Amino acid sequence: MRLVLLGPPGSGKGTQGARISARHGIPTISTGQLFDRQISAGTPLGQRAERYVRAGELVPDEIVLDMVADRLAAGVDCAEGFLFDGFPRTYPQAEALDRMLAASCGPLDAVIDLDVDVDEVLARIRRRAHTEDRLDDAEDTARRRMAVFAAETAPLRRYYQQAGLLHTIEGAGDPDEVAARIGQTLAAIAHPQLHLGS
Ligand code: ADP
Repeated sequence: MRLVLLGPPGSGKGTQGARISARHGIPTISTGQLFDRQISAGTPLGQRAERYVRAGELVPDEIVLDMVADRLAAGVDCAEGFLFDGFPRTYPQAEALDRMLAASCGPLDAVIDLDVDVDEVLARIRRRAHTEDRLDDAEDTARRRMAVFAAETAPLRRYYQQAGLLHTIEGAGDPDEVAARIGQTLAAIAHPQLHLGS
C-alpha cells in the first residue's frame, strides 16, 4: 500500500508509522528522520536544513523535494508500497508528490490523518523532551511547530479529502488502541469487498 501519515507534531506518527510498517511489510520514509541523519552527518543538505529544524520551521520545499526525489530514486518497491511520515507538509509538496507518483508508482491508496488535541500533544512533547535528546523539543519550538502545522499542513486534509483519500483516526488514548483503529481502516481499504456497509 502507498500511504501518507498526516498529523501534528507529537501525535504519535513515529510510533504508529513503525507499527504500520511492520504489519504491512512496507518501509517508512520519514523526512524528519532523513533530515536528522543528514544533520548528524554534516552533509551539505543537512547544513542547509539545520537552522529550520532547530527553529521548528519547515525546511523550504525545494530542499525537501530534492531529498524525497533522491530517496525514491534510491529504490522503492511500488507494488509493495511505502509509508510517508511527515511528508508532504505543504500544498506544493503534496502536488509534487502526486506528480512524482504519477510518473512512477501510481497514486496513493490512503492518507491516515491522526487527530489529536493540541493540549494533549504539547504535554506529550514536554514529556518526550525529558526522555529523548531531540533538537527541536524545547517548549517554544514545540509551540512553533504546532502553529506551523496548523497554518501549513492542516489544510492538506482538505486536499486529500477532495481526492477521496483522507481517513481521520482518533489519535487519543493508548497506542495499541490507536493502532487497532488504523488497522481496521487499512483492512477496509485493502479489502473493500469485505467491508461493504460497515
Ligand atoms: P514532528 O512531526 O514531531 O514535527 P518530524 O521528525 O516529522 O517531527 O520533523 C522534524 C522537523 O524536520 C520539522 O519541524 C521540520 O523542520 C523538518 N521537516 C520534516 N519533514 C518536513 C517536510 N516535509 N517539510 C518541511 N520540513 C520538514
